[in-house]
Amino acid sequence: MFYIAIVGRPNVGKSTLFNKIIGGRPAIVDDTPGVTRDRNVAIAEWRGKKFGIIDSGGFEPESRDKILSQMREQTMMAIEEADLIFLMVDGREGVTSVDEDIAKRLRKSGKRVSLVVNKMDSHKQESAEADFMGLGFEDVFPISAEHSIGLDPLLKNAVGEIKEEEHVEPEDEERPVRIAVVGKPNAGKSSLVNTLLGKSRMMVSDVPGTTRDAIDTEFTARGKRWVIIDTAGIRRKAKVTAKLEKYSVIMAMKAIERADVALLMIDGTEGAAAQETKIAGLVQEAGKACVIVVNKWDAVEKDEKTALRYEEGIRNLLKFLVHAPVIFVSATTGQRVSKILEVVEEVGAEYNKRIATSALNGILEEATKRKEPPVFRGKRVKLYFATQASAAPPTFVIMANYPDGVHFSYQRYLANRIREQGGFNKTPIRLLFRKPAGRRTGERERGGKR
Ligand code: GDP
Ligand code: GDP
Repeated sequence: MFYIAIVGRPNVGKSTLFNKIIGGRPAIVDDTPGVTRDRNVAIAEWRGKKFGIIDSGGFEPESRDKILSQMREQTMMAIEEADLIFLMVDGREGVTSVDEDIAKRLRKSGKRVSLVVNKMDSHKQESAEADFMGLGFEDVFPISAEHSIGLDPLLKNAVGEIKEEEHVEPEDEERPVRIAVVGKPNAGKSSLVNTLLGKSRMMVSDVPGTTRDAIDTEFTARGKRWVIIDTAGIRRKAKVTAKLEKYSVIMAMKAIERADVALLMIDGTEGAAAQETKIAGLVQEAGKACVIVVNKWDAVEKDEKTALRYEEGIRNLLKFLVHAPVIFVSATTGQRVSKILEVVEEVGAEYNKRIATSALNGILEEATKRKEPPVFRGKRVKLYFATQASAAPPTFVIMANYPDGVHFSYQRYLANRIREQGGFNKTPIRLLFRKPAGRRTGERERGGKR
């Protein structure tokens, strides 16, 4: 995927721009609440082109005295991770020495840079743009992030560079399941990959000078081919910025987007917290299946109830991953590691499953009988018909007279019926509500595709 990073000193408006950009994509109707909104990496879409966007401002330090050094680190990281950089400056303040410092690093990197001059709220300020020419970038875009001025030319220029995504792989029964191993540094990802791969690992891991973000290793187990998307390559880069643990989120995202199933690794001796929530949110947003792997179980003091309590804690934290199985392993002793592929297989089967339209409509009919759809603006919502539009993740389109009238709790009710009756308990699913074509509509279409 094509990545854009927004860099610049604090307060120039990076988060504002980030939010405008991700706010502009069509809403996804998920069956799940609580996907974290607090984040700094997201998949965005503009004019049908998808890209990753990184708000380096989300990584700004709390204490002011460290700002400069950490900002340098952020900028370095953005340079490494992104294909295009938005260097953002404050059009009302003019060029500062910090802007110059960042610009110098960016020029050295040779990466494409768009200079974004923000806070150009009124026409009087047009001349300010000229002041910034001295930073040495040809592509200059005056904008007002807050008032959504000038975003079109900026994004048009940016996405123009994106090649049409090559993927859309042929439906191939034999296609190996792709697994991404994600989690905080030190959760035990490398150890697990080593244990899973055994000796075959040696053949790939020692390729010197690998600069790719992630190494894909194909292996055979349980009579099948699998691909593990290993973030070892990313780890090396991470050492540069070991202090910025938050960047592991970006790394996770790059692996997740190319996977079918994410193994979310949690260090069992520490438990899950904010960082895991963020990564889990990305898995969910990307529409990937997930298996939660609690590692280092050998090192956890436990009685017969520990696992149960542990799982409860995780479920509480990651409510939106109800469907993800939890498994307790030890990457170093190998305990239950072989079970992981078994679980991935089950999850993968549901993730790629399709059910017949007649069966689906049977479920819909029964569901609406058991519990009537809500009333919307004084009228009863009617659900006419459903189809499964796609698999991976299973996505269901439901035709309704008032797509906007299907409020969240009813959506969740329907999702649960489809899960239980259709056998989609271990995979994320998506519901999209649409107005049937040809009917006159006063309502916006609800939902969207990515
Ligand atoms: P960041 O630290 O670079 O992420 O900056 P923020 O996005 O948090 O914005 C810093 C401040 O600038 C906030 O008070 C914003 O409301 C304000 N701001 C952002 N964009 C604009 C703009 O286009 N015009 C004006 N006047 N203010 C803006
Ligand atoms: P990564 O950063 O997520 O790739 O984590 P590593 O695989 O490098 O592991 C981090 C540390 O945790 C290393 O010291 C490992 O030996 C240790 N570790 C990994 N898995 C286990 C485990 O199952 N049990 C115990 N006790 N330690 C583990």
